[in-house]
Amino acid sequence: MTIMQGRKHYAHIMLEHISTGLAVYDAKELCLLEANTLYIHLLDNMLAEDWRGGKALGHSMHEWGENIQDEGMINQFQQIIESGQTSHVKEFSVCNPQQEIAYWNATLQAVQDEQGNISHIIHSVSDISEQVYARQKAERDQLALSQAKQTIEAERKRLEIIEIIARSVQNTLDIKRIGDTTVTTICQQLGSKGASIHTIDHSQQILRLLCANIVPKNAGEQANVQHSAFEKLSLGKAAIISKQDLERDEPIVIENIQEAIQSGRLEPSHPLAQSTATSCICLPLRFNDRLEGLLAAVFDTPTTVDGVEALTLKGCATHIAAALAHARLHEAVNHERKRLRTILDQVPEGILIVEISTGTFSYANQAAADILGISLSELLDVPLHKHRWHRSAYTSTTSDGQPILPWNFVVVRALCGELLRSKETLVVQPKGDYVVTLASSAPLYGENGIMTGSIIVLQDITAQKSLEQHKNDFLSVANHELRTPITVIQGFAEVLQLKNAQDQSLDELTQQALINITEQSEHLTSLIETMLDISRIEQDHFMLRPAACNLLEIVTHAIDTYAITIREHQLELKLEGLSETDTLPAYLDGERIGQALHNLLSNAIKYSPGGGTIEVGLCYQPERAHEAQIWIKDEGIGISPDAQPHIFKRFYRAGNLDPSLSGFGIGLYLVKEIVVRHNGHIWVESHKGHGATFRITLPLNREKLEQAI
Ligand code: ADP
Repeated sequence: MTIMQGRKHYAHIMLEHISTGLAVYDAKELCLLEANTLYIHLLDNMLAEDWRGGKALGHSMHEWGENIQDEGMINQFQQIIESGQTSHVKEFSVCNPQQEIAYWNATLQAVQDEQGNISHIIHSVSDISEQVYARQKAERDQLALSQAKQTIEAERKRLEIIEIIARSVQNTLDIKRIGDTTVTTICQQLGSKGASIHTIDHSQQILRLLCANIVPKNAGEQANVQHSAFEKLSLGKAAIISKQDLERDEPIVIENIQEAIQSGRLEPSHPLAQSTATSCICLPLRFNDRLEGLLAAVFDTPTTVDGVEALTLKGCATHIAAALAHARLHEAVNHERKRLRTILDQVPEGILIVEISTGTFSYANQAAADILGISLSELLDVPLHKHRWHRSAYTSTTSDGQPILPWNFVVVRALCGELLRSKETLVVQPKGDYVVTLASSAPLYGENGIMTGSIIVLQDITAQKSLEQHKNDFLSVANHELRTPITVIQGFAEVLQLKNAQDQSLDELTQQALINITEQSEHLTSLIETMLDISRIEQDHFMLRPAACNLLEIVTHAIDTYAITIREHQLELKLEGLSETDTLPAYLDGERIGQALHNLLSNAIKYSPGGGTIEVGLCYQPERAHEAQIWIKDEGIGISPDAQPHIFKRFYRAGNLDPSLSGFGIGLYLVKEIVVRHNGHIWVESHKGHGATFRITLPLNREKLEQAI
């Protein structure tokens, strides 16, 4: 091989292995004179079937080029021939028969002959499809990334606005502030042109404007915005929200106000229609299934149901609704508290609240200060031990005959958690005046069930008490003044009866009159005796004189006394655990027990105006040898359940009694005093209209009896 042949051979090897497709064309016909295999291969992508595999060699581009989809190639060749300038074509795209796009970088270089004419064109082509594909993919990824970034940024902004609103409304209980903060934040952060919040007044079925920075045009519209009936749930005259819309939590979006007017969804007279806003979003504010209000915002740009504005407002809505609900509840609680406070301040009874933790009165109304005779400032928040508890020589007793306790006893007992009802107490004011009160107290408990203090109620009963005192004074004087003339009357009646017994000088009418005089004066004497006893009880002078006695005899004696005088009633003795011939030894004041039985029997007769049987019973059971039970059972008018707790009180008489059933209401009081002072018990069992049974249990005091013997 010659050197020349060797160089040709090596040049051929180089051309075949170079990564660029190379071809040479003649400049006149654009005939493909020579090309390396890579060029032929790349060209095949553009050629029709017949020209592939190097068949284009030796043929003009005009022949095979008609099948080239991209005409640009021939044009490029023409331009080179005309200009002689080397041309670089970057990313020349070629679509092969399989419709795949390949990308080439191509260079067209003119070759001049010795005369300077362009004789040939060198076409070099590199397939850069892979790089282009990779770059395009990177570009697509970049685009997707930037879109994702935008989405994330929008979402971040959305969450930021929601968080700003959530944070600013969650700690406030001021409804107005919630509204202002929300509206301002929506306008500043969400770029809304205006916003408003209405709250819902369910009781009045209206929407009430809480705050807005959408300025209505005239006063009429202003009024419409301030209050809007449920039927017209809107920002103005035309209803843009139906009741059904309010049931759902979805935003109601007017994407384009002008289009909404044209489609008839929005009335042209609506303030929204007249505003310069482009779109509007309304959102029901619902918390725990309760509609709290309505949020509305208008924008300069169109919005969509799933746009960032609607989504942001939706995210905020729960927080705003929760804040409104809490604020509303807080307002309601405050309102109730104020109302209660006003009631407590106004009631005529003195009311005090004493706190365990501080040992002070944390609340007192003016009535309490008046009763205690000190100012509220001296009373409140001053430790209890620093209060001066004044004493007095006042000696009145309670209606039960007990000494009246100073009122601070009630404070002490209230602090011990005692529930006191209507205890008579005495307040001695600093000036020395006294006030008798009925004091009640009840413990107050905290949420954890632990007692925190007590409420004390004081009712001033000084006036009633002094009236009662006067009545007692009057009774004791009257008793004394009445006794003497009655004794005289009784004495003369007895003298006349004695005389009649000797000479029978009186006619029948006069004799009957004498009997009546004696009976009535005995009744009067017994009444006076009872009254005197009451007086004695009140002045603590009522004494028992217990002695050995036979309780059975006391009971039978009481029956015998009445048996002679009654006509319409039958008296029956019923013995349990005893026989009539037995004795039931006891250590009691027999006279007083007899007096008690006498009172009970006279009541049984009096309150059985229709007659009937009166059972007097005595029961002694060896297994309960320390006591005996006596009962008096009638078939009379009975006692209503309302009256039963009161009948043993002084001067109490059941309501609606027949006026013919006269009495003072002191008999049972005395009976109870006698029984209780014997350490016994008395109670009544009765149904109105079906008679009454009074039962007494009495201790027999056997040990005292043995000592006495
Ligand atoms: P008085 O009989 O003088 O009214 P008491 O103290 O004896 O007073 O009785 C008080 C009240 O109890 C009476 O007014 C009456 O309403 C009622 N009461 C007492 N005993 C009976 C009874 N056996 N049946 C019905 N009511 C009675």
